[in-house]
Amino acid sequence: MFLELCGSPDVPYDDDEWREEPGDEALPRSAMAELGIKARLNRRLRTCGGSKEAATLSLSPSEVHVLTRLTEKSHESVTEMTRKATATATTKSSEDFFDRLRNQVSNDVDLSTAESIMSAFGATPKSRRQSVLSTSGSWAEGGGRSPGRRASFRKAIKKVIHTNRLKQKMSALDRLPGRLSGDQKAIVRQAFDRVSAWDFDIWAVYDSCGGDERLAAQLVAEEIVLERRKVVESREGKEGFCGLLRTFFREVLAKYEKNPYHGALHGADVLQGVHALLASNARFEGALGEDTLLIVLVDALAHDVGHPGLTNAFLVESSHELAVRYNDHSPLENMHARVALDLAKPWLSTMDRDVQKRARFTWIELVLATDMKEHAAAIFGLEHELSKNPDYDAAEPGNHTTCLKIFIHAADLSNPTKAWPTYERWTKCIMEEFYAQADKEKADGHKLTVPLRGECKMDKFQLGFLGFIRPLFVTATKITNVDMQDQIDGLDAIAKKWQDKAAAEAAGDAAEDADNVRR
Ligand SMILES: [Zn+2]
Repeated sequence: MFLELCGSPDVPYDDDEWREEPGDEALPRSAMAELGIKARLNRRLRTCGGSKEAATLSLSPSEVHVLTRLTEKSHESVTEMTRKATATATTKSSEDFFDRLRNQVSNDVDLSTAESIMSAFGATPKSRRQSVLSTSGSWAEGGGRSPGRRASFRKAIKKVIHTNRLKQKMSALDRLPGRLSGDQKAIVRQAFDRVSAWDFDIWAVYDSCGGDERLAAQLVAEEIVLERRKVVESREGKEGFCGLLRTFFREVLAKYEKNPYHGALHGADVLQGVHALLASNARFEGALGEDTLLIVLVDALAHDVGHPGLTNAFLVESSHELAVRYNDHSPLENMHARVALDLAKPWLSTMDRDVQKRARFTWIELVLATDMKEHAAAIFGLEHELSKNPDYDAAEPGNHTTCLKIFIHAADLSNPTKAWPTYERWTKCIMEEFYAQADKEKADGHKLTVPLRGECKMDKFQLGFLGFIRPLFVTATKITNVDMQDQIDGLDAIAKKWQDKAAAEAAGDAAEDADNVRR
């Protein structure tokens, strides 16, 4: 084993030590193994007369140089640097890398960055990795290093590998939140038993995370995309690819503003909604390729990234810079797609070029479909298709994008199709956001596009909204291989509750009036 080798350079060479142990197949390969270092060590060992120390020091200067350039950069640019470094690797001195890596690791600074570096490199296409690794020369042969420095370097590498490996073995729940108690983790685990169902309780996860919505959203995203859907199983350098996705989740969620409604938790809720809708429409889901599934889920998570907590109507009315930039056309959605696609470059660029092109097209189409301005047009468009072809089938390849647009839009509007307590919490959040916008509109002298606090008749407002969105679910259910009847039933139950509330209130008012008349 490489780890033991690093820790005991003076132990005589034992060939078995380099072989995989029986349990190792079950473990994810470490990103360093992805780098091919272990294989290089094996090869070097033969030419170093069995000297483990010489073999361990056989990292090529170019390989070290790549890592140097990555280490000195910020977390965000790690993967961008990977691409550049792998494309332009030279045999530049490894001096800087040695010092930086040693300092970083020995001081326990930001091991998650180290993980990202290794993951990023591991997910780089094999051909590029090989071109870097095949650059000739070895550190040992380059010579001139003191034994003390070599020992420090070995120690640093060992720590990075060890930490990386441990992290990859753990689920997101174990790996991320040191601050969750055993009881809190148990609640999250219990909630995750229903993560593929429409009644998944995302608020239970949020509450267990102490109201840290980014943490809750990260857990949900990793649980669905990396643990449940297995959408990355077939990828070359799977572990490295997972690492890139984890980093992407973190970066996207960090870019969500802390709005009452349009925050990271809403992104995770829409991801879970799309996941659950696909799970309950298995024929359609089965017709989608692995890459498309990945794009749809990740797109759902990122669909509102950077949302300022203001509607498009407000942005246009106030000539906000986003409205100016996008000529008043879906300014929010255009921004969400651009920001998210920028962040997605590191892992998207590991895919084939034609897959990248398709992914980008689907991504933009889906995010733009979440603009409420497109709501009526989407329903009419679908009704028109259905009138021409009553057997319009979601599973037909030519219909995938249209149906996925309906799915993400439905998940985005899903709050009133859920159980009352879940719906009620979301509704409080969105109303808070509306009230804050109304205050701004009033203060700036703009026309009011959302209700003012204290002046909104909630039953009327909500029943109007429910009536507006219901046709989406009804029309979707007419598509062959799509069934959203559960969502329609949920929506009708919420509407009934509002009607009952309104009736009770009216009866109360009538009784009060009668009382007043009698007096
Ligand atoms: Zn949304």
